This record gives sequence, structure tokens and C-alpha cells, in this order.
Amino acid sequence: MWYDLGRLLRGMRGDGIVVDMKKQTSKDTSVLEEELRAGGMRVTRQRLAILLALADAEDHPSAEDLLARARRYDASVSLATVYRTLAVLEQRGTVLRNEFEGSGARFELANAPHHDHLIDLDTGDVVEFRSDKIERLQAEIATELGYELVHHRLQLYGRKRGGKARAARRRAVGARV
Ligand SMILES: [Zn+2]
Repeated sequence: MWYDLGRLLRGMRGDGIVVDMKKQTSKDTSVLEEELRAGGMRVTRQRLAILLALADAEDHPSAEDLLARARRYDASVSLATVYRTLAVLEQRGTVLRNEFEGSGARFELANAPHHDHLIDLDTGDVVEFRSDKIERLQAEIATELGYELVHHRLQLYGRKRGGKARAARRRAVGARV
């Protein structure tokens, strides 16, 4: 199971919004290895290092992030190998590519329950959430337009309330020093 149920329930808010869906990480790469082979790729030491970095990711790493993490397991991993491996896994539907404004492609495993993303414009932090209300509304809109909803991507961009004022204060304090 990908999500810790206790955490998930603690993250429950009114209107069926679930946040703080911390991913359970794992060092078990067997499923990912199978997917690579099914995609016609041999599981080399370098590719295994990339799979380990992917399986262990709690966040939404870029290809460069994954390269740095994979190199902890095998220093000979190249960025080209990261891109090729991600491309095959994405094609297999095992990895999701998220295009967040201002940060380029960010990756995550696709085996988590469906969720949407809120991106903090000041810090680049990515908050995962799921709202039953939004899910229902989107399906309704598609139906009204004569479609059956297949999937969707929703990204919210925001600033923490008071966050900008805090940052300005920090800058003012810094300027006096
Ligand atoms: Zn996500």
C-alpha cells in the first residue's frame, strides 16, 4: 500500500479534502524492474540505481534530482540514462510526468491513489491533495458536455497567506545588517 492510512485520515478535512498524503517509500524495485524489462530494457546497475532513487522518492523530483540521488548508488549513472529510463517507465504508465510551471518536468510513481497538486509559488513546494467535491464536479462538467471523463490534471498555484509579508520582513531585517 502506497499511503499510510493513519496519516491519510489525519489529513482529512471538511468537504472531503485529503492533504498530507505522505508517500510510503520503499527499497523494493522488483515491480519497476519488471516494467523496464516489459518495455524492452535490460536492468543494468545504472538503471537499478535510478529505480532505487524513484522508489525512495517522497517528493516530485526532476530528472536532475533523480540523477544526483541515483549516483549515491552508482556513480556512473548519466543524465541520458535517467531520461531514457523515465521515458520507458512513463510509456508503461508506471511513472507520471508532471509539468509544473517554472520548474520543468517533475516525476513520481503512478501507483499512488489519484491526487492533484498545489504548487507554492514562493518555495516551489508541491502539496498533494484530493477533493471529492472537485472530482465529482469535473465528472459532472464532462457529462454535461457530452463526455465521459477519462482522466484529468489539476494544478493550483498559490502563496501561503502571510508568506509574502514574512518574506518582505526577512528581507528588511537582512538589509539592515
Ligand atoms: Zn504527486
